Amino acid sequence: MSIRLKENKARRILIANRGEIAARIAKACRELGHTAIGLWTDNEVHARHLEFCDEWAHLEGTGNTETYLNQDKIIKIAKELKVDAVHPGYGFLSENGGFAEALSNNDIIFIGPHIEAIKIMGDKATSKTLAKESGVPVVPGSADAVKSVAEAIKIAEEIGYPVLLKAVAGGGGRGMRACADENEIKEQFEAVGRESMAAFGNGDLLVEKLVLNPRHIEVQILADKHGNVFHFFERECSVQRRHQKIVEEAPSPFIGDDEELRQKICQTAVKLSKAVKYDSAGTVEFIMAEDKSFYFLEMNTRIQVEHPITEEITGMDLIVCMIQSALGEDLQIPSQDFITRSGHAIECRICAEDPITMLPAPGVVTGFETNFPQGIRFDNCLFKDLEVTPDFDPMVGKLIAKGVVRDVAIRKMESALEGLYIEGLKTNIPLHKIILANQNFRDGNYSTSFIGVEKPQEQITNNIDYTSFYMKLAGIEARRMGL
Ligand code: ADP
Ligand code: ADP
Ligand code: MG
Repeated sequence: MSIRLKENKARRILIANRGEIAARIAKACRELGHTAIGLWTDNEVHARHLEFCDEWAHLEGTGNTETYLNQDKIIKIAKELKVDAVHPGYGFLSENGGFAEALSNNDIIFIGPHIEAIKIMGDKATSKTLAKESGVPVVPGSADAVKSVAEAIKIAEEIGYPVLLKAVAGGGGRGMRACADENEIKEQFEAVGRESMAAFGNGDLLVEKLVLNPRHIEVQILADKHGNVFHFFERECSVQRRHQKIVEEAPSPFIGDDEELRQKICQTAVKLSKAVKYDSAGTVEFIMAEDKSFYFLEMNTRIQVEHPITEEITGMDLIVCMIQSALGEDLQIPSQDFITRSGHAIECRICAEDPITMLPAPGVVTGFETNFPQGIRFDNCLFKDLEVTPDFDPMVGKLIAKGVVRDVAIRKMESALEGLYIEGLKTNIPLHKIILANQNFRDGNYSTSFIGVEKPQEQITNNIDYTSFYMKLAGIEARRMGL
């Protein structure tokens, strides 16, 4: 099949994000011939994502609320710079229906789905209701927000303990608490509601059955503005800490060769996406029980952190497609059969955090070098002198390895982790090495309880030998200086 690309009009695209995803979006804009406009906040004059942009604007301030979460400031810049469209990346304003609406009121395209889809899917209660109505299996529990402790206990008794209290507006693994019995609900209900109110501006909670030792399996969706909805197969993201993913892979080792199950979960995701007339890149997340029954968790109406592993196995550029979709262009995908997959890809999220406590560890990068095996992809925002502040998410890069089969992807990833030198900053690289070496991980035999059960963090010795890093860095520097 041969497809001819059409020349499209160059547009001005503002990237309302930072770090690796801002760089990734800028690259896609450039490839398409659009003008990428980057933002920098007070502490980000040297931010690496700006190198990939064609124009820059100062977003005054430091923390989240003053900057990338500040709709008014971003819209003001967008208007001043006469941009055609805004790409929100992930996190920040990416799932904010009000922001998409405000842009639309100013005749600026939001690179994402239509506003109704964001609003329905952004709320874990309304999205669950739609899933149920569409014949998509959902986790047993309340369909709507639970108003009182008594109501929460009543539902928990119906579905059986343990249960999960979950914020309808939650995200990034926050706003969730497992309860083993009635007393725990009594203890936690008010607190989780208060925390969710503070974090997400909405204190409403759902009560859900806590699925034991589940797998997190999600399906990548891409749709255009002309009614075409495609899936790009699944990803498995069961290695998590604090309900947040740290290692992801595609395809899912749990689904393995079960093509029937793969088709079923992918088609279910397409069905739900069609029900909300989805028209952009998005992800339908499921939880899969030990017996391989699966339930809808939520839909992320944005590009996800782990999208590169899907790009690696399908060869498609999801960010490029997402931009084309938003501009109303043809995706040049003739049918679902056009999207095929091969091999296996793994992603390790590289975070500035203590590898043992897994808590953010801000600091300054004093040296940064890579020495990777063939074919490694490293989406990152690192450079020597980068200061990782507590203001933003501590993820500084994503290491992505692809292999013809899973074992090869693992081998490449191990080699890549050995060749990633970040000096001066505490990172979770030592944790990733232990996870990759774990026999159960290698066998594909793991669930979201992996970190809690295997405790890879406890196998990290406190005195990590950074000297070998320094020696290698010194060697590189010495050769550069001709010594
Ligand atoms: P993904 O869903 O793409 O796998 P995460 O759940 O880690 O990735 O979320 C991506 C980023 O967005 C993280 O920086 C996370 O902290 C942030 N994030 C996600 N949802 C929300 C939300 N509702 N509110 C604030 N931040 C969020
Ligand atoms: P977020 O918006 O924070 O990403 P999700 O609903 O996607 O919230 O859940 C995040 C993670 O929490 C899941 O990947 C899974 O590990 C865990 N989780 C969520 N709901 C359940 C459940 N009902 N049973 C077991 N684990 C769950
Ligand atoms: Mg989620």
